[in-house]
Amino acid sequence: MQYNSLNKQSLAVGFQEALFRGLAPDKGLYFPGNLPHFSEDFWRSLPEQDPQDIAFQVMKNFVQEDLSGEQLRAILAEVLHFDLPLKEIDKDLFVLELFHGPTLAFKDVGALFMARCLSALTPNPDNRLTILVATSGDTGGAVANGFLGVPGVEVVILYPSGKVSTLQEQQLTTLGQNITALEVQGSFDDCQRMVKTAFLDEEIKSQRLLSSANSINVGRWLPQMLYYILAVAQFQKKHSFEKAQELIFSVPSGNYGNICAGMLAHRMGMPARHFVAATNANDVVPRYLSGEEYQPKASVQTYSNAMDVGDPSNFIRIEELWGYERNELSQKLSSYAYSDAQTLAAMQHLHKEFNYLADPHGAIGYLGARKQQRKTPGKPAVFIETAHAVKFLPVVKKALGFEPELSPALQDLMARPKVSTEISTYEELKALLLA
Ligand SMILES: *Cc1c(COP(=O)(O)O)cnc(C)c1O
Repeated sequence: MQYNSLNKQSLAVGFQEALFRGLAPDKGLYFPGNLPHFSEDFWRSLPEQDPQDIAFQVMKNFVQEDLSGEQLRAILAEVLHFDLPLKEIDKDLFVLELFHGPTLAFKDVGALFMARCLSALTPNPDNRLTILVATSGDTGGAVANGFLGVPGVEVVILYPSGKVSTLQEQQLTTLGQNITALEVQGSFDDCQRMVKTAFLDEEIKSQRLLSSANSINVGRWLPQMLYYILAVAQFQKKHSFEKAQELIFSVPSGNYGNICAGMLAHRMGMPARHFVAATNANDVVPRYLSGEEYQPKASVQTYSNAMDVGDPSNFIRIEELWGYERNELSQKLSSYAYSDAQTLAAMQHLHKEFNYLADPHGAIGYLGARKQQRKTPGKPAVFIETAHAVKFLPVVKKALGFEPELSPALQDLMARPKVSTEISTYEELKALLLA
């Protein structure tokens, strides 16, 4: 597989180079040069296949020039070691729970896959590899966990001070070892901008082998296809292939990496009818799909903080998938924005009607699923629950009046001392990286 830069100025590269570069030299995102297409027989056979085998057959197309079959199988066994259950909570309403991984959010699969690929493909183990990553909440913990204790790798995480939940902050500031947390006086967009600047800084690059772990990285982005494909496999175990072709997927979206991976799988032939990008007050994409200009803005803070993104990095990949044709894209993708008040009401509704404890992101996914079902009655919908509700205790308390109990492991995490370094400018980040 060759990966092209979406800015079209840089040369195409293989998986290894796209993985290590993160962003192409022309600042474009990498995108697969030619998508594999799987036959209808393949999709029909999903329910009879082992999830590891499905994952192997899909992912090998994207990495086979660089990873051997055995390497890929070993990586997938380490990555897919927890459940990704699809649960029916009402007639034709399903929740896909992607929070059963080590840091309780869907980002574990992408972060683990990327970490294992980087370790397997490090060209020179003596050159210190630095993973530089900005997080709006869950990325930091997932990446830190994926790389914790990996020899020869340092992880530097930037997060916006006061804008992530306490549990999220504990997950990235208490690990120590090869993990450094930088607490940025600013927004997630500021963190992301600093990371992008560092990647283009020759002085830093002369001293460190830098790699990103944000959802722009193909190593994180691509394995997210597996959520959808494995969900369709579960769906078809109970329902038909024909019904799977009617599925609506509603995805809580911030940087649009997760939903874009689902749409990529659909482009490869995966059955689905429609995708919904459900989001909060950060509504660049809903506005665009309703006919307005595509107008990135400063992010605003909401209860669903992992989606507080004013300039979603991966949306361009969705555009690429649909040939930059808004009308065609609108046939496959709808996008709806919800306020904090609607988020709380949805959490209450899910708890009362279905005895389901949703986090604020999943609740927004639910609202998107229902809205699309009202437009196309009788179609089955899956909303994605991207994080466990315990990651957002204050919001759960506000919505439901009680706090779900923390497991002993989480109580232990909350009691650990936080270690972070405060920074507010790019120069401070640069000084730390050159030190
Ligand atoms: C990261 C995250 C999102 C947004 O995912 P994108 O791939 O950036 O769109 C949604 N919900 C939760 C809980 C997250 O951690």
